[in-house]
Amino acid sequence: AQQHYSAPAGALKDKVILVTGAGDGIGKVAALTYAEYGATVILLGKTTQKLTTVYDEIVAAGYPEPAIVPLDLKGATKKHYQDMTATIKAEFGRLDGVLHNAGMLGVLTPFEHIDLPTWHDIMQVNVTGAMLLTQAVLPLMKQTGHSSIVFTSSGVGRKGRAFWGPYAVSKFATEGLMQIIADEYDNTGVRVNCINPGATRTSMRAKAYPGEDPQTLKTPADLMWLYLYLMSDDSIGVTKQSLDAQIK
Ligand code: NDP
Repeated sequence: AQQHYSAPAGALKDKVILVTGAGDGIGKVAALTYAEYGATVILLGKTTQKLTTVYDEIVAAGYPEPAIVPLDLKGATKKHYQDMTATIKAEFGRLDGVLHNAGMLGVLTPFEHIDLPTWHDIMQVNVTGAMLLTQAVLPLMKQTGHSSIVFTSSGVGRKGRAFWGPYAVSKFATEGLMQIIADEYDNTGVRVNCINPGATRTSMRAKAYPGEDPQTLKTPADLMWLYLYLMSDDSIGVTKQSLDAQIK
């Protein structure tokens, strides 16, 4: 990636971009940023109230009117994603980008204490949900021409760390999913990459590190150069990469 890329105004004009987990944390700021640069954003998330707030902020700022998809990735089936894709196709006729940002941390636990229901939930939300959504939207993304799929990884998705259990395993799986889809869709116009946000001031980070002073952390806004780069046409040709949003 170009280090600290600076997107020109209107860089995402006429693009339709779906953001999962768009109601809070990094996903909320990404949705607002994509809209600011001209995209029509589709806000997908679990808590409808949070999505409505983001919707209102985008409209109040005078950005393109977004759409809302209330969906809990934990229970969503193949049919939900197919219906959603059919609606996107009917409404917009295209899908230029997907940011897979929604994620579930669970609780940090000694390995011997990992409980199976929590393991399944984390895999469902972080891996299976992203896989099913991607399967459903790929035909529309191929048809759109140049399009971009961005997964969200983590430092623990590249190097395991004690107590991070199912969350870390789910992020290794995310890296694998990205590589497999990127390889398979090479030369189709669909590019596929991962972002590792790095330590970021959100409620998920506070849950993982309750003793940490959040003021010492980067904010989601600090990361947006990379989130913009991978959705803009300036990253055409960049695929199968796992990139850091915080470069030391
Ligand atoms: P937050 O917890 O602040 O936000 C996560 C978002 O995902 C929320 O909007 C949440 O919706 C949504 N979400 C969670 N579960 C579901 C579900 N079952 N169905 C639909 N939506 C869901 O997290 P961050 O912003 O910190 O994290 C964003 C991504 O970045 C995650 O993938 C995370 O793993 C990754 N990451 C974050 C780091 C950090 O330091 N913050 C570091 C490395 C990676 P709701 O609010 O409605 O529950």
